[in-house]
Amino acid sequence: YDLKNEDFRDIQDLGQGNGGSVKKAEHIPTGTFMAKKTVLIDAKPNVRKQILRELQIMHECHSKYIISFYGAFLADPNICICMEFADKGSLDGIYKKIGAIDIDIVGKIALAVLEGLTYLYDVHRIIHRDIKPSNILFNSKGEIKICDFGVSGELINSIADTFVGTSTYMSPERIQGAQYSVKSDVWSLGISLIELALGRFPFSDSDSDHESDSDLEATLSPSTIAALSLNDLHVVSEEGDDQVPLPPRRPLKRNKDPAATAKDKKKDKRRSKGVSLQGGGMTMSILELLQHIVNEPAPRLTEGRYPKVAEAFIDACLMKKPEDRQTPKELLEHDWIKESRESTVDLVAWASTF
Ligand code: ATP
Ligand code: MG
Repeated sequence: YDLKNEDFRDIQDLGQGNGGSVKKAEHIPTGTFMAKKTVLIDAKPNVRKQILRELQIMHECHSKYIISFYGAFLADPNICICMEFADKGSLDGIYKKIGAIDIDIVGKIALAVLEGLTYLYDVHRIIHRDIKPSNILFNSKGEIKICDFGVSGELINSIADTFVGTSTYMSPERIQGAQYSVKSDVWSLGISLIELALGRFPFSDSDSDHESDSDLEATLSPSTIAALSLNDLHVVSEEGDDQVPLPPRRPLKRNKDPAATAKDKKKDKRRSKGVSLQGGGMTMSILELLQHIVNEPAPRLTEGRYPKVAEAFIDACLMKKPEDRQTPKELLEHDWIKESRESTVDLVAWASTF
């Protein structure tokens, strides 16, 4: 394909993220329906061209677990990335519409994501870097595929300036500034799977009910702090500490006084509503969340409500130290994934229910 903007007819808005917006569009010369992602890039012409070159690797990515790539082009301040259209959208949209997803289906999702990650890494040495429900897509053929992986360092740099808010699938080691590895993607997968099985983001409300015994202070890396918006830092400085860009650690749970607990819970609830940015109050809870991820025990699937083997898989994904966490390839051998491979759960039938 030699793609150009004038050959497209926009059909429908599919959604908006931090980096840009996605539309369903028809490529008129071929009659192909595509998902066209428009990313506003504030960069010099040679950087844009570099991004375009880096994106070309995606032409070589062929796997049934990866959204295929049709091409990318410059459309003045924007870069457009055209990819396979998934007619059932992303898993965040699906669970928000239909509620918690059945654990057998979550197993199929885990399998597909691990296959996709293993393909990207084994064949292309690509680390995804942004596994989360909105980057796992589904279609009415029952296929589960991942998208939006980090192939272009320049693109990541260019978007980093506007990056806020959704760093919440980040592993503890990433928050502390360690190098990215495939194991960081495994953490993000674990968080995503709990979210899908529970029908809500795991770090909120009732999660702050159980007691914690960790007294460690979080250390946020300079790069993480830099990635947070000026808004966040402003909120921090309002707390009266200009030197250490960290809010005083407010214990999320562990209030001895029951009256204070109730009050605090109410506050927590308000603060953790939605992970989209809604001004100062909300941004504080992002810092708190990052501290929480580093300091507190990893979330788990509620004991007893799910098959033991599924709980064990999630626990394996959410080992806090990367040394203790397995790679996607190793996790493909996990008993739950073997069971999920054999499972006859009908994804086409499931797709037809929403
Ligand atoms: P973020 O910007 O934080 O990564 P995001 O993944 O939601 O968040 P986008 O990647 O811009 O943001 O995608 C916006 C929405 O468009 C997604 O939530 C998804 O529902 C939809 N979408 C993206 N790609 C496709 C696709 N290939 N087919 C169908 N829908 C898509
Ligand atoms: Mg996305």
